[in-house]
Amino acid sequence: LKRLIREGDRSEEVADIQARLRSLKLTVDDDAGHFGESTRRAVREFQQQRGILVDGIVGRHTWSELVEASWRLGDRPLYLALPPMRGDDVSSLQSRLNALGFDAGREDGIFGRLTDGAVRAFQKEYGVPEDGIFGQRSRAALEGLRVDRPGTAALLREELRREDSPRLADALVVVDPGHGGDDPGEIGANGVREADACWELGRRLAERLLMHGARVRLSRTEAESPDSSERARRANALGAAAVVSLHLNAHEEGEAAGSSTYHFVGSSAGQSLAEHIQDALVGLGLEDCRSHGRAYTILRETRMPAVLVEPVFVTNPEEEKKLEDPIFLRDLADALAKGVAAYFDETR
Ligand SMILES: [Zn+2]
Repeated sequence: LKRLIREGDRSEEVADIQARLRSLKLTVDDDAGHFGESTRRAVREFQQQRGILVDGIVGRHTWSELVEASWRLGDRPLYLALPPMRGDDVSSLQSRLNALGFDAGREDGIFGRLTDGAVRAFQKEYGVPEDGIFGQRSRAALEGLRVDRPGTAALLREELRREDSPRLADALVVVDPGHGGDDPGEIGANGVREADACWELGRRLAERLLMHGARVRLSRTEAESPDSSERARRANALGAAAVVSLHLNAHEEGEAAGSSTYHFVGSSAGQSLAEHIQDALVGLGLEDCRSHGRAYTILRETRMPAVLVEPVFVTNPEEEKKLEDPIFLRDLADALAKGVAAYFDETR
């Protein structure tokens, strides 16, 4: 998919998108190939269900979610490949294996090393030739089993990891300032660019975390804008203990204001990190737009607790103005560092 597909478009691609939406039981009343109001609503509903950015437009991310969503367990053999296989068939396999007590890792729909290990362990235990390919025979064995302990192994593993997680003073934290390079992100009415504000905030947060004794890396340089998968890959390669991704919120209504934090759906450590940061931001007097489970790429593809923070709305003129105030940025960075420290304290 090379460009954005949106309301008003007419093409074969639109017809394909509509067919996929319908197969997911969403209602599309527009003529085939015509992206009208009804298609836009179905796209928004789909985006909401998947926990990705809701804008009613089909870009690269929404397109790949549509493709992933259409896989059902049994449609194709699943195995460890490069790049890894992705789809809802993978996440249902992971959740079935986890429920049986195998450790297939996070139920993120990405077939990685842990899922491969779980498939092999499952095959060994249930008498299927141990080739690591989840095909018809493995599936037949799996279908014969009752599953009544949802998610035990993955949750247990995360709990265990938290028990031997480091103190903040020994931890490596990756700070991920959103956008950058030729991607300005959202731009406020008075010209404040999300990328610049996140960079300034990220620098200050890195300083604060260093003062707490943590080791800190930024996910990008000032001039570059790696995509979210690349940022996640960098954090994974560093073996970071936590990732803090910085963005600003935006809304067509200028009055919308306040702080939100996001964690990967089903990650209890991620949720705790997000909630501690949320508490610290609300402590500054910012409106509480709460913590939410989402499947944003930076949350899904990182292998450690990660949080995406939107401390204010760049589209709110008052909050935009504050972003130009170094004292406010300092207070924000303090609050974020306080939230990260509280998370590490709690896991002790
Ligand atoms: Zn952003």
